[in-house]
Amino acid sequence: NAAPLGHSVIPIVNKLQDIFAQLGSQSTIELPQVAVVGSQSSGKSSVLEALVGRDFLPRGSDICTRRPLVLQLLQIKRKPDGTEEEYGEFLHLPGKRFFDFNEIRREIQAETEREAGGNKGVSDKQIRLKIFSPNVLDITLVDLPGITKVPVGDQPSDIEARIRTMIMSYIKLPSCLILAVTPANADLANSDALQIAGNADPDGYRTIGVITKLDIMDRGTDARNFLLGKVIPLRLGYVGVVNRSQEDIILNRSIKDALVAEEKFFRSRPVYSDLADRCGVPRLAKKLNQILVQHIKTVLPGLKSRISAALVSVAKEHASYGEITESKAGQGALLLNILSKYSEAFSSMIEGKNEEMSTS
Ligand code: GDP
Ligand code: MG
Repeated sequence: NAAPLGHSVIPIVNKLQDIFAQLGSQSTIELPQVAVVGSQSSGKSSVLEALVGRDFLPRGSDICTRRPLVLQLLQIKRKPDGTEEEYGEFLHLPGKRFFDFNEIRREIQAETEREAGGNKGVSDKQIRLKIFSPNVLDITLVDLPGITKVPVGDQPSDIEARIRTMIMSYIKLPSCLILAVTPANADLANSDALQIAGNADPDGYRTIGVITKLDIMDRGTDARNFLLGKVIPLRLGYVGVVNRSQEDIILNRSIKDALVAEEKFFRSRPVYSDLADRCGVPRLAKKLNQILVQHIKTVLPGLKSRISAALVSVAKEHASYGEITESKAGQGALLLNILSKYSEAFSSMIEGKNEEMSTS
């Protein structure tokens, strides 16, 4: 049940966190937040779920995500006997551990109704959920309500403006990666996702295009030009995916089966055969991984210099005491050495051997 997201980054981040913990320093690696944007029912929740590798988000053809869901993935150690334990905990229910992920979904629905009512109302009050698992890396994902145009149910007449403001409050942060989700059966030039992502990130440094529903395009059409960036170019490019259909959801099809079906879909379509690097959820996870590694590489020098500074002051302190057997300065030098090796390893990983980072 391993999560596709962060598969290759987990061991690296772990070792670094261990090093910093030994040093007793406050320094840690903060990974960027990832938010999904797009119009209603474009497949945002489906994409997030596939990336996490677990079933727990409300999904469907109607409006399902009606409050922002801030999902913190937190890594825990495997139990001493080697078995793993995965559970969720909501901020609004402190101390209550949910081991059943279906129950997590029900609680998200119930908590949505408590705040936003039972009739399609939308609220900007967050639901905060932590998922503890040995198979994730510490990252925050945000599932957001989709952009809608026509008020339904209890929605106010300015529903579109309200949802746009809510989405912008997340994606305007420079540290937020944006997954801009557009279904392949709509015109990319009409994409709400690319439009709002473009407002928040005009230079496209932190926007990844995700094209969903490749399986239900009009007969005779395909998404080649979308994926190649020929319709709307995007600096970080596009990935096309096939998520579960509404029927799959009703039939309780698992994420694992869905990933197998997705792979089969792409293998059996000659139009996508030369675009393998732009197709599939594992590919999207890999792209995110590369961005995360790049981020770690960017923050490492700062962490390194903080350690060097700490080392200098410890050495001074040490000198003022005279000889002490258990040398703190020696330990610091050792750690610094290990850390330098890591940054070198990162550089070579990014500048050449990207294939080693495969998540599939
Ligand atoms: P959201 O409103 O953007 O969060 O969209 P959801 O993830 O809730 O999905 C909306 C509906 O579209 C659900 O019924 C999904 O099963 C369906 N769906 C999402 N992605 C795909 C896809 O790639 N192919 C097909 N056939 N259906 C999809
Ligand atoms: Mg949703």
